[in-house]
Amino acid sequence: MPEFTFSPAQEMLRKAVREFVEKEIEPIAHKIDAENSCPMDVFRKMGALGFAGVIVPKEYGGAGLGLTERAIILEETARHAAGFAMTLMTHQLGIEVLLSYGSEEQKRKYLPELASGKKLGGLAVTEPSGGSDVGGQQSTGELKDGKWVLNGRKCFITNSSEADVCVVTVRTGEDAKGRPSFSAFIIEKGTPGFAPGREEDKFGLRGSGTGDLSLNNCQAGEDAVLGGVGNGTKMALAAISKVGRTGMSAISVGILRGCLEEGVRFAKERVLYGKPIAKLQAIQLEIARNRVDYEAARLLTYYAIGLKDAGGSCDAEIATAKYFSTEAAVRAAKRTMDLMGGYGVVNDYPVGRYLRDALATIPSGGTSHVMQLVIAGQTLA
Ligand SMILES: Cc1cc2nc3c(=O)[nH]c(=O)nc-3n(C[C@H](O)[C@H](O)[C@H](O)COP(=O)(O)OP(=O)(O)OC[C@H]3O[C@@H](n4cnc5c(N)ncnc54)[C@H](O)[C@@H]3O)c2cc1C
Repeated sequence: MPEFTFSPAQEMLRKAVREFVEKEIEPIAHKIDAENSCPMDVFRKMGALGFAGVIVPKEYGGAGLGLTERAIILEETARHAAGFAMTLMTHQLGIEVLLSYGSEEQKRKYLPELASGKKLGGLAVTEPSGGSDVGGQQSTGELKDGKWVLNGRKCFITNSSEADVCVVTVRTGEDAKGRPSFSAFIIEKGTPGFAPGREEDKFGLRGSGTGDLSLNNCQAGEDAVLGGVGNGTKMALAAISKVGRTGMSAISVGILRGCLEEGVRFAKERVLYGKPIAKLQAIQLEIARNRVDYEAARLLTYYAIGLKDAGGSCDAEIATAKYFSTEAAVRAAKRTMDLMGGYGVVNDYPVGRYLRDALATIPSGGTSHVMQLVIAGQTLA
C-alpha cells in the first residue's frame, strides 16, 4: 500500500520546487493568464533542474524519479499557475508514450532533449469526431512505397504550436474483428505536411496553448511508428490514464491549495463589524469545506499515484482521483469567491482565475462523465 507521508527526499524536492515557483512563476502568474502566453524560458529552467524530465530514467538524461515526485512538481506549479502546469503535464504525457513504448533507438533519439527541457513534447489523439469516442478518429495513415502518409486534423491539442516532438495517433487499418485500428507516430515539428492550425481562446488553463494540428500528406518513415502498428489506441489510453489523469488530479490539488490559502488570507484580513470575517461562523464553514475538499483530493490523488508507482493496475482509483479533484477544485474556487464578497470577482485577486482553471481541468484527460463510467465499470465488473 502506498504511504501517505512523503519521504525526506520527496519533501526536499517539494521545498525546492516551491522556492522555484514562488520566485520564477508566482510573480508572472497573472501575466501568463492575461496574455495567454507560455513562458518557455521558465520551462527550460525547469528542464535544467530536472523537473520537466522527472519521470525519465537517468540513462536517458532524466531525474529517474516516479509519478509521485512528478505530482509534487505539478501541484506546486499549479498552486500559482495551473495553465503553465498544463504545458508541463502534457510534455510529460508525450514523454510517457515514448518511454513506455519506444524502441531503444527512439528513446535514445528523443528522450534526452525532452528530459532536459530543450525540447517540448505532446500527444495528439483528439479529433473533431473523436474526443471521448477515441475510436471515432478519422485521420488516416497509409503505407505507400515504404513511407507512411498521414492525413487528417487533430483538435484540442496542448502544446500544439510549440511542441517539438509530438506523438500522433491515426487510423491505419482494421483489427481481426473488422473494427478500426490505430497506430501512433512520432512526428517532429517542421515535418512537411504537419502544421499547427487554429488556437483555441480558452477561458481557463491559459498559458498552455491548445489547438489544431493538421496532417496533409505528411510522410513518416517506418522508424516513426511507436510501439507497433495497430497499438496506438491502447498505448494512448494507457498513457492518458497513467500520466494524463494523474497529472490533472495533481494540478487540481494545486488549485485547491490555492483556494484554501487565499481564502484564509482574505478571511483574516477583511474586517467587518470591527473584526476579521474569519470570526464569522459562516466564513469558518466555507474554510472548513475548502480544507476537506483539499485534503480529500490530496489523499485520493497521491494514493492512486502511489499505487501506479508501485506498479499496480488502478485505472478506477486514478479516475476517482481525477473526478473528485477536478470537481472539488471548482467547488472550492466558487466558495472562495463567495467568502470574498465583491472582491472575489476582481481580477486583482487570483481566485477568478482559479475558478476558470478548475473548470477547464474537467474535460482534459477525460470528462467527469467518462471518469464516472470508468469507476462504475470497474465497480460493477
Ligand atoms: C484544456 C484541454 C487540453 C486538452 N489537451 C489534449 C491533448 O493534449 N491531447 C489530446 O489528444 N486531447 C486533448 N484534449 C481533449 C480532451 O481529451 C477532450 O476534450 C475530452 O476527451 C472530451 O472530448 P470532447 O471535447 O470531444 O467532448 P465529447 O466527447 O464530444 O463530449 C461531449 C459530452 O458528451 C459526454 N460523453 C461523451 N461520451 C460519453 C459517454 N460514453 N457516456 C456519457 N457521456 C458521454 C461528455 O462527458 C460531454 O459532456 C484537451 C482538452 C482540453 C479542454
